[in-house]
Amino acid sequence: MNGTESFWGWGVSEKFPERKTRRELAERLETELGFPDLTVQEPPSLSECRVPEPSVSLPEDVPCTTERDVRIHHTYGKSYPDLVRGFRGQFGPAPDAVAQPTDETDIQRLLEWASEETVAVIPFGGGTSVVGGVEPDLEGRAGLDGTTSRSTGAYNGVVSLSLDGLDSIHEVDERSRRARVGAGIYGPALNEGLEAYGLQLRHYPQSYEFSTVGGWIATRAGGHFATRYTHIDDFVESVRAVTPAGILEARDVPASGAGPDPNRFLLGSEGAFGVITEAWLRLQPRPVHRARVSVEFDSFWGGVEATREIVQSRLTPANCRLLDPTEVLLNEIPAPGKSVLVLGFESLAQPVESDLETALAICDSHGGTIQDETESADAGDSWRNSFFDGPYLFNQLVSMGVLVDTFETAVTWDRFEELHTTLTRAVQNAMADACGMGVMSCRFTHVYPDGPAPYYTFLALAEEGRELEQWRQIKSAAADVLIAHGATITHHHAVGRVHRDWYEQEQSETYLAALQSMKRTLDPAGIMNPGALLHNREIRR
Ligand SMILES: Cc1cc2nc3c(=O)[nH]c(=O)nc-3n(C[C@H](O)[C@H](O)[C@H](O)COP(=O)(O)OP(=O)(O)OC[C@H]3O[C@@H](n4cnc5c(N)ncnc54)[C@H](O)[C@@H]3O)c2cc1C
Repeated sequence: MNGTESFWGWGVSEKFPERKTRRELAERLETELGFPDLTVQEPPSLSECRVPEPSVSLPEDVPCTTERDVRIHHTYGKSYPDLVRGFRGQFGPAPDAVAQPTDETDIQRLLEWASEETVAVIPFGGGTSVVGGVEPDLEGRAGLDGTTSRSTGAYNGVVSLSLDGLDSIHEVDERSRRARVGAGIYGPALNEGLEAYGLQLRHYPQSYEFSTVGGWIATRAGGHFATRYTHIDDFVESVRAVTPAGILEARDVPASGAGPDPNRFLLGSEGAFGVITEAWLRLQPRPVHRARVSVEFDSFWGGVEATREIVQSRLTPANCRLLDPTEVLLNEIPAPGKSVLVLGFESLAQPVESDLETALAICDSHGGTIQDETESADAGDSWRNSFFDGPYLFNQLVSMGVLVDTFETAVTWDRFEELHTTLTRAVQNAMADACGMGVMSCRFTHVYPDGPAPYYTFLALAEEGRELEQWRQIKSAAADVLIAHGATITHHHAVGRVHRDWYEQEQSETYLAALQSMKRTLDPAGIMNPGALLHNREIRR
């Protein structure tokens, strides 16, 4: 990491711009998006933050710390409610301690102790959750009820479990192109470690620099590939976890038809069943052939139809991101008022030009025009730069009183138009009602032959002190529409505490009961990340 990790916002503190630069951004929002006069504020220093005293005595045989700054760092993820509370220096929900295990034995000891003492344990990878996945709010209301203090319910305390000590690449099997790696390894360290073998994971979520393999598996993260290898699931051969009931692991084979897949119990488990300690991952060399172009559409719906036809023609572009005009504006792509499809193909074995030509012919038939070469390169470059640096913008926006968040989903093509139209109306109404104004943009992050995964960003005017209430109103309006229109509450951001109520509406009661039974078996004392993914059940002491 090049810099000091921000204790309240995204990434490293050094990339938080000076007041003058933020004032310029505020002016852009005022003139281009219609925001009223924005007031640029400064974050507190670490020493000014409010943190309660820890209230649990710790196990002697597991490395743990109660150091204030470490507890602050492990209090929140990186959603809007997290950033805004961090920006105000409110760390009321801080965990009592942070466990720092270096191996599975430490984790086993910690889980035994926590089960006996009824202390909740929250696995913490990179802490980039945007769904309240790592927040020690055990009633499962993280950020939703507008309070800043913790509610521990029946628990005697909360320990955040850092995976930083399990960050090794244990072995690389070059012949089969796979590696066994520790769950706590971060994206850049993993690819640097694999460099010597000429291999990579090639799974790039936007949070890649600050998130971990274990976090990706626990949340079923979505990477940069728009088609084919969309989720981390596609790169996972087998997973191993320590649960309070013992070790849970799958055999490392390329495929198996032997019963329900044990990996599937851990992919998306969000720390509710146990702690993922390592995984065998499928690797690939860097692609040799690449081609990329950007196509402009006068109509968003022309772009939608072109995208549908491309994926239904069995083309598998690595990048296939349709941006609506507001996304184009926010990403500073030189195509005002247009929708832009950023299209890219890559391959190890064969040239990709003919796939690109086929895709362009489809775009042409739906009114798309290729941006000239310079503009196309600009659009592609702006897109890539803003992909990794974009999240830093959120820090700036929070500092000037802009409420900014995202939500994402997946839905079949036949339902998309109605969903999009209703969502746009509902979110615009909610922003007008809660904040007086607001703007929402849409892009496709992933596309499938049977439907897109649209990703929405909304920006509205926040009122100091009412931010969480305003955010909840907008977020709930969007989530209600998603569930009512047959979409999923999340394509890749996970469930956590924030999406849990809607996740429950999406699943059958029988399935939820089976998951709860699974949790009872693996985590009899109910200590694993209570309130995330599933509702807390009653804790018997
Ligand atoms: C700016 C930004 C961009 C993002 N972009 C993407 C994106 O492109 N694609 C995407 O899918 N998501 C994205 N996210 C969401 C987030 O980064 C992902 O969910 C990521 O997978 C979380 O990894 P992490 O290591 O930070 O996990 P954490 O945030 O630490 O944890 C996430 C959840 O997993 C559990 N967990 C973590 N590690 C383990 C473990 N070893 N064992 C058991 N449970 C564990 C935690 O308890 C928690 O419930 C983004 C978030 C931000 C803030």
